[in-house]
Amino acid sequence: MDPRAKVEITVQGIAASQGIAYGQIFVYLQSDVEVPSYQVEPEKRIDEVARFDRALIVTRQQISKIKNEVEKNIGPEEAAIFDAHLLVLEDEALIGETIREFESTGRNIETCFQKVSSRYVQAFSEIDDEYLRERAGDLRDVAQRVLHNLLGQAENSLNRLADQRIVVASDISPSESATLDRSAALALVMDSGSKTSHAVIVARSMKLPSVVGVRDLTKHVTNGDWAIVDGYDGLVILNPSEGTLFRYGKIQERKKSFEARLLEVNRQPAVTLDNVAVTLMANIERADEVAKAKSFFADGIGLFRTEFLFLNTQRIPSEQEQFLAYKAVAEAMAPLPVVIRTLDLGGDKPMAGKADLFPKENNPFMGFRAIRWCLEHRDIFKDQLRAILMASSHGNVRMMYPMISGVEELDRANEILAECREELKARNLPFDSGLAVGTMIEIPSAALTADLLAKKCGFFSVGTNDLIQYMLAIDRVNDRIAHLYEPTHPAILRTLRMVVDEAHRQKIQVSVCGEMAGDPVYAPLLLGLGVDCLSMSPTWLPSVKYLVRAMTMADARVLAAEALTLTSPKEIYARCDAFYRARVKMD
Ligand code: PEP
Ligand code: MG
Repeated sequence: MDPRAKVEITVQGIAASQGIAYGQIFVYLQSDVEVPSYQVEPEKRIDEVARFDRALIVTRQQISKIKNEVEKNIGPEEAAIFDAHLLVLEDEALIGETIREFESTGRNIETCFQKVSSRYVQAFSEIDDEYLRERAGDLRDVAQRVLHNLLGQAENSLNRLADQRIVVASDISPSESATLDRSAALALVMDSGSKTSHAVIVARSMKLPSVVGVRDLTKHVTNGDWAIVDGYDGLVILNPSEGTLFRYGKIQERKKSFEARLLEVNRQPAVTLDNVAVTLMANIERADEVAKAKSFFADGIGLFRTEFLFLNTQRIPSEQEQFLAYKAVAEAMAPLPVVIRTLDLGGDKPMAGKADLFPKENNPFMGFRAIRWCLEHRDIFKDQLRAILMASSHGNVRMMYPMISGVEELDRANEILAECREELKARNLPFDSGLAVGTMIEIPSAALTADLLAKKCGFFSVGTNDLIQYMLAIDRVNDRIAHLYEPTHPAILRTLRMVVDEAHRQKIQVSVCGEMAGDPVYAPLLLGLGVDCLSMSPTWLPSVKYLVRAMTMADARVLAAEALTLTSPKEIYARCDAFYRARVKMD
């Protein structure tokens, strides 16, 4: 695979987010920069030091520019982080030691700088002081930037793409995906990942075509290469020929006219042909996404992933800061409901630079995550609970806990919530005393004890992204086994049916807020199984609504009943797909 030969090359990956894009590639390398190592001839040594000086100056200019932009667009407090970055560039010890290393070894300056900066990063990360430990992160960031400048590589920044680009990355962490430049990214391609990797959830919410699990693609492309990303069939076509461009142009035209039809239903109610109203809500990660949810006429926010307030920041947001964010969402949506999920940090979402709070784990998805983490970090958890309670007097707020494994854990969380209620009463601060408290069903043990949990909960919300990974023992972000991640596995269907039945027995509602809910192929199956509400990325609301308006609930129930009798996930998927295609035609 050598795209530089400029012949058309098609690479197969996993189709993660539908759509087609054509454009130039921006290669985002998250891992450490690969630095070539070589000996510099004695007569070129002065130039080598001058090259280092120039890279430091360019880096300083880049950081100052980012700082000004952040100050203008976000605020002075956030911009202050970059002062620490600028200070790194003036650090006598770091710069001086790099030069001394160069003088004594004669190796190229990148090699020397990488060696010295890594030593400092290591030393800082081992210091027993939180503030100094955080400096390790600053130092690493700046060192990467200097290395990119020395190597003449484009700046590796996801949040400020130079132009409209197809982002090709080895991997993108949840915190990085939150910074993805939403106005300039055309498509997202990753070497690793699967349909429920967080970066893909973001891509789907942005309606960005995405193909993942394209092994080693980053090693074979360079910035500026041209490509088509086909998010329907999971293809990346490098250096497409005129013929291929023409064919894809036709597909795009059809897609555009279909999208226009979808938008026509935007303002219409989500009611089936046999007159059953369906509740369709939106998932959000940031308070400002509420505008998007409203523009797609969501019936409420079914999942507010609050951990994103904690990612990409060096500090834990205070009770007051969180209160303001939750209140803004509650007020904007009122009288519609807003389901605020308590922190789901850890797992694939650790806070950057906080190694003491998020120790390295062999198996992070099975580890110190979400409610488990909150129950051990009571002060942080209580700040959040009080903030949510306070926001509850400003709208129709509901709250839910992620990753509950059983009744005991729920009881422990609720005891802490009761303490927070007392504390607010003592401070004379108002809150909704009838706040509905639900639990996510995303661990098999919770699903199997749904009868017990339902007696103690205001509602259930099924997190199919995690539920499927834990039930089928398939790591949701591992591309090697992504083909085994099957939402239509009979075990999943039976579990969903059981959870719905137990919830309804206790007269509580069940929503699904995993990616399955926003896929129009699965939506009828979920509704047919009795799910009361679907919550999804706002941009998927029209597609699901369009289908809801084209089907009957009676047919959806028949689909689900038949699916429950089948044994093959592929056959069940084919039935769902046929159900969808019979009702929604692209042409
Ligand atoms: C889920 O697991 O389905 C879910 C909605 O939560 P998250 O994707 O944030 O883990
Ligand atoms: Mg989850």
